[in-house]
Amino acid sequence: MSNRHERRRAAKVMRVEQRTMSVEEFASLPSGCAWAGCTATTAEPHKHSWSNMLIYRGRPALDFLEIDPRQMARDCVLCPEHARYLDENLLVEIGGRLRNVAGNA
Ligand SMILES: [Zn+2]
Repeated sequence: MSNRHERRRAAKVMRVEQRTMSVEEFASLPSGCAWAGCTATTAEPHKHSWSNMLIYRGRPALDFLEIDPRQMARDCVLCPEHARYLDENLLVEIGGRLRNVAGNA
């Protein structure tokens, strides 16, 4: 059984800092690939052939801003490898849109 000093020391180690983050700080955090098991990250998901993936329910929207955030099931990014895998192996062929876009970034 640990003494009081040891328990206090253990409690200090367990303490977690909590603070509010600005939108700019949050947006600048690295993004991780949403593929299960993938550890790829990027600070610039809009570059380097990464893909954004948004899955939402409800009516199809022509304008992104029309989508109700409460209807968004997943809002994430995929690394080039997994965007390609998704496109080539899991999605119905729609003309290779992810493959075509991936080479242009
Ligand atoms: Zn990945």
